[in-house]
Amino acid sequence: MSNIFEYAPAPESRAVVDIKPSYGLFINGEFVDGHGTSFKTVNPATEEVLAEVAEANDADVDEAVKAARRAYTRVWSRMSGAERAKYLYRIARIIQERGRELAVLESIDNGKPIKESRDVDIPVVAAHFFYYAGWADKLEHSGYGSTPLGVAGQVIPWNFPLLMLAWKIAPALACGNTVVLKPAETTPLTALLFAEICQQADLPPGVVNIVTGAGDTGRAIVSHPDVDKVAFTGSTEVGKAIARAVAGTEKKVTLELGGKAANIVFDDAPLDQAIEGIVNGIFFNQGHVCCAGSRLLVQESVADEVMERLKRRMATLRVGDPLDKNTDVGAINSAEQLAKIRELSDIGEAEGAERWSTPCELPTNGYWFAPTVFTGVSQAHRIAREEIFGPVLSVLTFRTPSEAVEKANNTPFGLSAGVWTDKGSRILSMANRLRAGVVWANTFNKFDPTSPFGGYKESGYGREGGRHGLEAYLKGADS
Ligand code: NAD
Repeated sequence: MSNIFEYAPAPESRAVVDIKPSYGLFINGEFVDGHGTSFKTVNPATEEVLAEVAEANDADVDEAVKAARRAYTRVWSRMSGAERAKYLYRIARIIQERGRELAVLESIDNGKPIKESRDVDIPVVAAHFFYYAGWADKLEHSGYGSTPLGVAGQVIPWNFPLLMLAWKIAPALACGNTVVLKPAETTPLTALLFAEICQQADLPPGVVNIVTGAGDTGRAIVSHPDVDKVAFTGSTEVGKAIARAVAGTEKKVTLELGGKAANIVFDDAPLDQAIEGIVNGIFFNQGHVCCAGSRLLVQESVADEVMERLKRRMATLRVGDPLDKNTDVGAINSAEQLAKIRELSDIGEAEGAERWSTPCELPTNGYWFAPTVFTGVSQAHRIAREEIFGPVLSVLTFRTPSEAVEKANNTPFGLSAGVWTDKGSRILSMANRLRAGVVWANTFNKFDPTSPFGGYKESGYGREGGRHGLEAYLKGADS
């Protein structure tokens, strides 16, 4: 008789997506071949090659910028906000209608669990288009004027491929700009499906252009003389290079970069909820989250109890097939990222921190890393200072709120933080002292299109989301 507790996977069907063997560039409303070479995108859970994708060279980027400029001058900037809104609402509705297809494709190309792409990424993508559609005819009330900038060049990373696209394209279009966007080289497929959605929504040609490729393509966009605005999300290192490249030009820039968030647990916190928040903070999306709670600061008096409960909870995390609806932690996005996570984790051990990983079986093909926690971490350790961008948590302890603030702020980054305590007054005083763009209280990793998101220090500048997110795409109240 079979064991009634034997695991029964519940995989989402892949049949809902139609992955083509090769993809061109989306320029002026059409898919075109491009003049450059091509690259492969793989499923990180299996290493299967999914498709061959065009790599845009300088000439292709130039064509895309020209198409965006024509669309801006002739159509999009002349259209009323109410008319532009109709297109954005239409795109939002199509995203909802094709939500399952988008979620499956995102999980296949990125490696994230289907329950996250289905329940978080895609609904928030649609919400962003709905939200900014609402602003398109009300810009005069934004506080930032209602004059668009022109052509926006946008470069995004691989951790939330379609969500980062939405964060960039929805406000840009609502404000009357046109865009040339480059998805990351390991996750181009949902951006290309989004291009099809633009066609389906009858968006005027050239308003959205999608050019695929790696760093050179990104550089060509950023340095193109006819781009008025550069919006970048990615690593701090590349962000700095972009800031240097646009320095001295008229281009407006926003940079959303890395993070090393402190998730701070006080001894009066509701511990069951805090454990869920710690797990969500660092293992959501395999820890490939710029605002991940990668440093747990726990008050010394509850440290042992928190660690015991945390390990027990971590041991229940199901790691594996991203398309299985029961999966909690999926695949690491690429072999390169896996190598970086391994390297920093090995350094953590060599520097004397104590490593514990969940006793889970990892698939043999693909890129995998078991959820891991380091205790005995000190501020000087590299795992406490550098962004690992993987399912790895560093634990430090503190005695007083001031010590917690000092440790939390002792980082070059300043993107987000979490505070777990029963006291409202403590939440407010901590939020005022933490140098982070977002501070969550008794929760973590909550995203909403109405709420601005962005960093301090080396986490970048500018805000995305909410009314504040319009500033990046408008000339300003005085123009
Ligand atoms: P990355 O900087 O290597 O790449 C990001 C994008 O920039 C990719 O599309 C890449 O092709 C492109 N690129 C690379 N070199 C370029 C250059 N010289 N000029 C122009 N474009 C270039 O980052 P990644 O490894 O893809 O993403 C992970 C990083 O992104 C992490 O550090 C993470 O914290 C950060 N991130 C930040 C946010 C945020 O909102 N702050 C959100 C998601 C990710």
